[in-house]
Amino acid sequence: MSSRRELFLEEMGLTPLWRLRTGAAGSAAEEAQAVPATAARAAAAAPAAPSSAVGADERAARIGRMDWAELKATVAACTACGLRKTCTQTVFGVGDEQADWLLVGEAPGADEDARGEPFVGQAGKLLDAMLAGIGLKRGEDVYIANVLKCRPPGNRNPEAAEVAQCSPFLLRQVELIRPRLILAMGRFACQTLLATDASIGSLRGRTHRYQGLPLIVTYHPAYLLRTLQDKAKAWEDLCFARRTMADLRRQA
Ligand code: URA
Repeated sequence: MSSRRELFLEEMGLTPLWRLRTGAAGSAAEEAQAVPATAARAAAAAPAAPSSAVGADERAARIGRMDWAELKATVAACTACGLRKTCTQTVFGVGDEQADWLLVGEAPGADEDARGEPFVGQAGKLLDAMLAGIGLKRGEDVYIANVLKCRPPGNRNPEAAEVAQCSPFLLRQVELIRPRLILAMGRFACQTLLATDASIGSLRGRTHRYQGLPLIVTYHPAYLLRTLQDKAKAWEDLCFARRTMADLRRQA
């Protein structure tokens, strides 16, 4: 472990917990296929607020055909739910658009709302430490996104209607990135991607599939900040994810 990482983990109170025995392996990610289109078409393509289930399906299908530029423009212009009225800006996602690792959280908090980047507050510091613990770094073969792109007021839980409107954006991000492995952090990420209401506890420790992509479940970093005793379980999850990634690369 590098001394920089050691210092980082110590600062987060995570040593010796977030310590890895072996070095990280590296490999190229699969190229995502993008459909060329203009940002102007994007705004027309995804109506702000579908008025019916058919409208919602059509909107999701259109989002499902967008390339990165269209998707970013559509998220930035989205008013499909009420959250855009109360947040400062949308928070699209950050990192390597061809990453092997995709990390999915819940929704921006106050710091993310101010900066326009996911996981930059206290939970983000812990996430960076967790990543460092398994030899990863934000933006380097890692993409980070949330289920919701707008901050819910007062950091309340996302509502079902908000998840329904916003999740097509995340699903398109997954399709464009085609990561080798998805790490779903917390209830909303897991339940959205796996379409289940099962608890994190019952989903941990095995590899699930989202659209054929391996998905591993772990606790949300904000939950870990409040529930120190579960950090050890989250560390097990990360080590499991890292081993799974190594296996996937060997098999490729
Ligand atoms: N919590 C999340 O789920 N996402 C963020 O971006 C920040 C905190």
